[in-house]
Amino acid sequence: MQLQFCGAAGTVTGSAHLLTLDDGTKILLDCGLYQGNEPEYANFNERFLFRPDEIDIVVLSHAHIDHCGRLPKLVKDGFRGRIYATHATRDLTAILLLDSAHIQDRESSFTNRRRKDDHEDEPLYDAKDVADTMELFRTVGYNKWFGIHPDVEVVYKDAGHILGSATVTLRIKRHGMRDYLLGFTADIGRPDRPILRDPVPMDACDFLICESTYGDRLHEEAPQEKEHFLRVIQQTCVTQKGKLIIPAFSVGRTQEIVYMLDQLVRENRLPDVPVYVDSPLAVNATRVFEMHPECFDKEILDYMALDPNPFGFEKLKYTRSVEESKAINNKKGCIVISASGMINAGRVKHHVFNAIEHPENTILIVGYCADNTPGGQLRNGAKQIRMFGEYKSVNAHVEIMRSFSAHGDYREMIDFLRSQEKDKLRNIMLVHGDKNALTGFRDHLHEAGFGQVDIPKLGDKVDL
Ligand SMILES: [Zn+2]
Repeated sequence: MQLQFCGAAGTVTGSAHLLTLDDGTKILLDCGLYQGNEPEYANFNERFLFRPDEIDIVVLSHAHIDHCGRLPKLVKDGFRGRIYATHATRDLTAILLLDSAHIQDRESSFTNRRRKDDHEDEPLYDAKDVADTMELFRTVGYNKWFGIHPDVEVVYKDAGHILGSATVTLRIKRHGMRDYLLGFTADIGRPDRPILRDPVPMDACDFLICESTYGDRLHEEAPQEKEHFLRVIQQTCVTQKGKLIIPAFSVGRTQEIVYMLDQLVRENRLPDVPVYVDSPLAVNATRVFEMHPECFDKEILDYMALDPNPFGFEKLKYTRSVEESKAINNKKGCIVISASGMINAGRVKHHVFNAIEHPENTILIVGYCADNTPGGQLRNGAKQIRMFGEYKSVNAHVEIMRSFSAHGDYREMIDFLRSQEKDKLRNIMLVHGDKNALTGFRDHLHEAGFGQVDIPKLGDKVDL
């Protein structure tokens, strides 16, 4: 039995790990898109490290595009096997892959228009490839072992990361010997977040592939986020009659913010201001959330007994069309939630562009922003930013709420690993982290008493 690291090795995106059984069966754990620009990953999205038509089974952990975003490419290149996922992951994957196909189509037409030679840039896949991919899904619930091969059973457990997200444990029969358990944490969420259930401990494994996103960091504690949020709304929208712009990822973060606003409405504490969720993807994603209460925690289920729609209230408007989006420009004293979270794409760029020079407005940063994005620059206190080729002075107020994170920090991840038995666990293989996070997390794991911890490189193979 052999494991090969075919993505997210030494970096944070492009998740893909290939397990080859002794009988030659090939099982791929995740098939994610790479979203960075490191030299060793050049052409990663175009070329697989294996033959797609030789893969028998894909086991998908969750719907983030860095975990599922190359599935249509895999299908386009010859994969015809089954793709396993939880029910909610399947539905979120459908809308996120269509969105990804749409973005690629737009990007390649843009590149082709600027090209001077005859070469045509082709998108990785299109909507038809996404449709073909969705045909191959088989969905399963949490906490039930299911067979994917005569010698392999799998169980999904809550990862508490995004809707539908799961850790993956494979129980592999070895004839005449004790079964092996191979665990794949995928992305580990955090306890006590709104909407989703907490991460559930995994079975004690022999081998574990573990993520490391925040392997060298601790999150700040911020239990007062709702009060902080209310103060920002009051100051911006009521006192200053300005606009509060919240750049947020359409899946997960947007629904968390809307749910928090919904709670403030029910408590009669939200000032009488209109709220716009300006993102077609967020509209679709919210519908998927509503269809999957099986992923919700007790708190929101109790809340829904009083308010059946936690993602909607009278003053909230979801906007789809470009006209509706443009009309928001002329509004004052309102809240606008729009993607992307880093302000480097999507409609929120236009909203920030129009609002940033006016001191009555506030930009509220609620998520991770890479340093070289407008969101990252604002977070780092930039006085001026460049958008659409123009320099804009930052006169609007910039506010940061740090408590929203879908990834556990190193202490939370080590807590999550407490269910592992140190004398049974032979090896932890760290993936899905940048270099400092990977080595930092390895040190923290050693301090916590875990023995063998490896950091595989892209393409590395290990015999289990
Ligand atoms: Zn993720």
